[in-house]
Amino acid sequence: MYDVIIVGGGPAGLTAAIYTARAGLSTMVLERMSLGGQTALTYRIDNYPGFKDIYGAELAADFEDHVRDAGVEIIMEDAVELELDGEAKAVRTAAHRYEAKTVILALGSERRKLQVPGEEAFTGRGVSYCATCDGNFFKNEDIAVVGGGNTAAGYALELSDICRNVIVIYHGEQMPAVHSLQGQFEKRSNIQVLYHREVEEILGTGKVEKVRVKNLQTGESETVAVDGVFVAIGMQPNSQILPGALVLPSGFIRAEEDGTTPIPGVFAAGDLRHKPLYQIVTAMSDGANAAHAAQAYLRSR
Ligand SMILES: Cc1cc2nc3c(=O)[nH]c(=O)nc-3n(C[C@H](O)[C@H](O)[C@H](O)COP(=O)(O)OP(=O)(O)OC[C@H]3O[C@@H](n4cnc5c(N)ncnc54)[C@H](O)[C@@H]3O)c2cc1C
Repeated sequence: MYDVIIVGGGPAGLTAAIYTARAGLSTMVLERMSLGGQTALTYRIDNYPGFKDIYGAELAADFEDHVRDAGVEIIMEDAVELELDGEAKAVRTAAHRYEAKTVILALGSERRKLQVPGEEAFTGRGVSYCATCDGNFFKNEDIAVVGGGNTAAGYALELSDICRNVIVIYHGEQMPAVHSLQGQFEKRSNIQVLYHREVEEILGTGKVEKVRVKNLQTGESETVAVDGVFVAIGMQPNSQILPGALVLPSGFIRAEEDGTTPIPGVFAAGDLRHKPLYQIVTAMSDGANAAHAAQAYLRSR
């Protein structure tokens, strides 16, 4: 039985792991996809003190190196069921059942879907949720970015280096992305923003060829020819396998600043938590706090 199982190997989970392992607690991280979480899928990282300019993949590799060096056991499997009541906790994957005295939930979030016809059929054939991962498939082509936040603005800039034309489709009057990102649009002649537009359908034969967008001011629809659609409209917390007692109506987790949840011995950290700011440093701060609380819980037993 482990002292701590951490579900999710993003910045929150990996930070928690470093703290618990260095405190002498036997620690296992369960990760279903790639260590580093969303950081590993991000092109360039901002707002991470000490690194003015670092690629997400580079930072994720450094996280992994640090965690392995701390003696953390890493298992690449998908947690499908949690047994969190009682003194001994367990996490099940398709093949195994792992036991621990405490569990730190750091499952993060995923990209929200548009939920329009064509989206699912063309995912991987022109529809993408990650510019860093798929941008190179659209070299010198025309693409659409759907959304208006920092992620959408970052995608537009990143893709404008690779693609011929980038058309940003945003439903509102003013993009909420920070001004510094939007300011850079003016220097790029190949970025165009379509305001008051909503994607109604993604169309094509075998691959994406166009999107049908509705003008929310006039009510009229038009088609825009594109080779790809990058969706950046927000996050969906990965809370599907969590017990109802922990999950708020929004899907985020109910947890205190120190990561404690209503279930003794169960802690939560990172983008899974309901909180005001979703960034690497806040995820890491959550991870450190949750590790500290788990350590105190074990000491009290
Ligand atoms: C495109 C983009 C750009 C960003 N840019 C920046 C930036 O420049 N600066 C910044 O500070 N922040 C940035 N962020 C935000 C930052 O990446 C997140 O706030 C941070 O990664 C959250 O960390 P986390 O560990 O809570 O969650 P995540 O990074 O989401 O990690 C959660 C991990 O849990 C795993 N997981 C989920 N479910 C299971 C399961 N059932 N079993 C096993 N594993 C599971 C996932 O595979 C994932 O690896 C960006 C986010 C995006 C999407």
